[in-house]
Amino acid sequence: MAQIIDGRLIAGNIRQEVKQAVDAHTSAGNRAPNLAVVLVGEDPASASYVRGKAKASAEVGIDSDTLTFPDTISERELLSEVTRLNADTNIDGILVQLPLPDHIDETRVINAISPKKDVDCFHPASVGALSIGLDGFAPATPAGIVQLLERSGIETSGAHCVIIGRSNIVGKPLANLMLRKGIDATVTVCHSRTKDLSVMARQADILVAAIGRAHFVTADMVKPGAAVIDVGINRIEDASRERGYRLVGDVDFDAVEPIAGYITPVPGGVGPMTIAVLLQNTLKAAQAV
Ligand code: NAD
Repeated sequence: MAQIIDGRLIAGNIRQEVKQAVDAHTSAGNRAPNLAVVLVGEDPASASYVRGKAKASAEVGIDSDTLTFPDTISERELLSEVTRLNADTNIDGILVQLPLPDHIDETRVINAISPKKDVDCFHPASVGALSIGLDGFAPATPAGIVQLLERSGIETSGAHCVIIGRSNIVGKPLANLMLRKGIDATVTVCHSRTKDLSVMARQADILVAAIGRAHFVTADMVKPGAAVIDVGINRIEDASRERGYRLVGDVDFDAVEPIAGYITPVPGGVGPMTIAVLLQNTLKAAQAV
């Protein structure tokens, strides 16, 4: 039976730590950290994520300004908003909620954010700093995973970490983090073209699933005693729920849990960590001013 890693509890501890550090920061005479969140269009999921970030910020004493724009905003107008936020000394962090409408080049917008305010760690300068081990912002979901491991007492030094998924927001930055000095894992990154995926996965001391396919990781893919981190968030039909669906991860939890050493549930595992790291990053941006 695996030990369940309680992401809600660990994220709650981190939020408490951030709150204490924000209190200390403002008690020392500084203004409260301030996060600018840019939302374009009316996608309900994006709007809900943005509300969640604003609420979590307020709970720890971080101010946040949500700037909403219609999806008719031009790329040029959005870029000039980002330029204005870069120059605004009352703003510490800038987050542009993705996806953006098709007529706007996301890369161009992200590249326009000052790396000093890039609390999402998506700017190429932030990604480069991460890959060569320089101090900088932490990528939210991967850094959340590392903190789950550390705070659960899971040994990473010399451990073989197999990551399934090579996206720019999870798989690749997580590989960089796990390789860092002090974390010191041996890393294998698998993806849709990987051969013998089960054989690869079964070698993992730490197995991370970031694929986006429900129940993809089955019991035969897991080494007994491994730590299994499930990043996936997938909807599956469930007539017993009022909304007609429930959320599941990329791991077949019921089959894997009896053989794993540790496992994260979905929901309540990796998910809550993402906003917790965003709060840490915003505090860090404010402290650097
Ligand atoms: P993505 O779609 O960008 O990448 C998926 C990756 O899975 C790709 O690299 C692809 O090569 C790999 N893949 C697809 N099919 C495969 C197969 N058959 N075998 C091996 N590899 C395969 O996804 P993403 O943005 O990294 O997100 C992955 C999942 O994590 C999604 O369910 C997403 O919703 C979730 N997610 C959760 C959080 C969180 O906070 N918990 C954050 C980000 C993403």
